[in-house]
Amino acid sequence: MTKRIVAFRRLKESQLDQLRHEFHVDYFERLDSADDPAFRHALRQAHGLVGAGLRITPEMLDDAPRLEAIASISVGYDNYPIDELNRRGILLCNTPDVLTETTADTGFLLIMATARRAIELAEFIKRGDWQESIGDAQFGSDVHGKTLGMIGMGRIGAAIARRGALGFGMKVLYSNASPKPALDAELGAEHRDMDALLQESDFVCVTVPLTAETERLIGQREFARMKSSAIFVNIARGKVVDESALIDALNQGHIHAAGLDVFEQEPLPDDSPLPHMANVVALPHIGSATHETRTAMAQRAVDNILLALKGERPISLVNESAWNG
Ligand code: NAP
Repeated sequence: MTKRIVAFRRLKESQLDQLRHEFHVDYFERLDSADDPAFRHALRQAHGLVGAGLRITPEMLDDAPRLEAIASISVGYDNYPIDELNRRGILLCNTPDVLTETTADTGFLLIMATARRAIELAEFIKRGDWQESIGDAQFGSDVHGKTLGMIGMGRIGAAIARRGALGFGMKVLYSNASPKPALDAELGAEHRDMDALLQESDFVCVTVPLTAETERLIGQREFARMKSSAIFVNIARGKVVDESALIDALNQGHIHAAGLDVFEQEPLPDDSPLPHMANVVALPHIGSATHETRTAMAQRAVDNILLALKGERPISLVNESAWNG
């Protein structure tokens, strides 16, 4: 019997051909809702699922009795009910490594753009306000030589820290579930508990995954401990931060500015003040969004599902217990 795959994120024609060579593929180039009747119908028969950006619920899994594997086109897997997948023996695969450097580029873009007020001052020219030499009112803050505090020192955290330490002569502090002696040696990075990191850092950059432990990890208490000159950057997930506490901290001058790629609700609701605040650089979740990296991520997902549905170990497996069970 030919196995069936549901794919719901844009794939290259060559990647679809690779899948169609082995499987029957139901392809949804655009999927606005998990309730789409054609999608739900296809899911009922699917052995594999390839996509990203959709919250998969236990109810959806109830409706997908044949499902053996999911290949997410993302490294984060907070959209998936891991315990339910484990209980049902469904493999979950992700796309680490291929997006690390691009996402770190975006993190550093936010550090630079926020410190040097690049977006705000580009708008200043567009409005025709550049009528005389700029002065104090347009000056920004240095990045080089400052202290960069990383909350999360995994693949992306380390890649941002590397840019800071080696490219900009920054001192790197980090707060992470486990110490990273190799990075201490490579970058002169120093482990700190969270409070010490918040108090000492000029830039605080979040790269932890969203889990039950990290949800709202950064809130009023944490913003109050940062320097009033601190710049806060979130390249991880919006829900790691209490967004209304962030807005208050920015409005009340507890911190200086923020660079944000991710938000509690995406797309940002129309009434969010964040994109309109002069001391905020807000981007529409573009961390890994380059042609090269998105192609590489989709290819990793295709390779993962091809292996998983043939009974072979996928390249990037999230839930070992489903494989062992
Ligand atoms: P990773 O290599 O797994 O790194 C995550 C790090 O966070 C690990 O070092 C881990 O510690 C640490 N950590 C986990 N829970 C923690 C906690 N409660 N307290 C302190 N540290 C904790 O993952 P990655 O590839 O760097 O990706 C990180 C996240 O970035 C993803 O999960 C995703 O949500 C987000 N992301 C966003 C974009 C975007 O477009 N903006 C793109 C890609 C990824 P250990 O080393 O001890 O395990």
